[in-house]
Amino acid sequence: MKIGFIGLGHMGNPMARNLLKHGHTLKVFDVVPDLLKRLTDQGCAAATSARDCASGVELVITMLPSSPHVKRVYTAEHGVLDGVGKGVPLIDCSTIDPHTARDVAMDAKAKGNPMVDAPVSGGTGGAEAGTLTFMVGGSVEDFERAKPILQCMGKNIVHCGDAGNGQVAKICNNMMLAIEMIATAEGMALAAKLGMDPRIFASIANTSSGRCWSSDTYNPYPGVLENVPSARGYSGGFGSDLMLKDLTLVTEAAKAARQPVVLGGMAQQLYQMHSAMGNGALDFSSIIKLYKKD
Ligand code: NAD
Repeated sequence: MKIGFIGLGHMGNPMARNLLKHGHTLKVFDVVPDLLKRLTDQGCAAATSARDCASGVELVITMLPSSPHVKRVYTAEHGVLDGVGKGVPLIDCSTIDPHTARDVAMDAKAKGNPMVDAPVSGGTGGAEAGTLTFMVGGSVEDFERAKPILQCMGKNIVHCGDAGNGQVAKICNNMMLAIEMIATAEGMALAAKLGMDPRIFASIANTSSGRCWSSDTYNPYPGVLENVPSARGYSGGFGSDLMLKDLTLVTEAAKAARQPVVLGGMAQQLYQMHSAMGNGALDFSSIIKLYKKD
């Protein structure tokens, strides 16, 4: 297929390369010229704007920072909807708020273009390896059309319901993850402070009711597990600022829906504090730094 790909950052670049590997032809666009060049060096055609990127292609994919970028790239003058042919499907893989996802999908539909939201989990490692999970919001027909393309970049492609529901799945899951990580950090740090070997405590928790993904697969206490960010100074992994972004999206969505998210709100504030202390680039398990000295 001839695909227009917009947003060639940490995730977009490897995702676009996986599409190339599967034999697709790409026209690409990013506001940062260096990022554009990295892909034109691989044989992609360069576009001069989002509109240009969307014109003359059979499918458009976007991977942008957040809601305002998505709104602008699709609906502003010189945007995707200005240039794309009627009926051409649109896939937005960015993590944004569900309301914006629904608004943009409605604008696209009004122009005659089916659109799905398809945020991902799996991080840059999953993007490189082509093993991302895609959480897709849109009609069954639009999901089925997007699936073979998403399979070039990911392993699990899950239909979450109507437009916006991919975003709902993504941000609610990450809210649960953040709360669980903070709980694990709090329990691990307290057990150590009260005199227990953190490795023994983790082995107890992991065979008891305290067990969760953050305790048994991604433990934040250094020395408990190998090959996780806590074993290498919290480098790599999923950045605290990215977790903060998702927590901010989820708490704002909850506010608009007048739905309480008591622990989610506290998690958002704790990650905001952690980020303000200069830890935004560290993996999100570094939140344990709020509870223990290095
Ligand atoms: P990034 O900042 O590295 O990439 C975004 C790219 O979009 C940048 O290169 C930027 O220049 C480009 N861009 C911004 N405005 C633009 C515009 N108007 N026109 C064209 N290009 C524009 O971000 P990323 O890490 O690749 O993340 C992308 C999305 O994926 C985000 O929504 C993020 O929350 C989500 N996500 C990231 C990860 C991760 O581990 N990095 C994991 C899961 C989900």
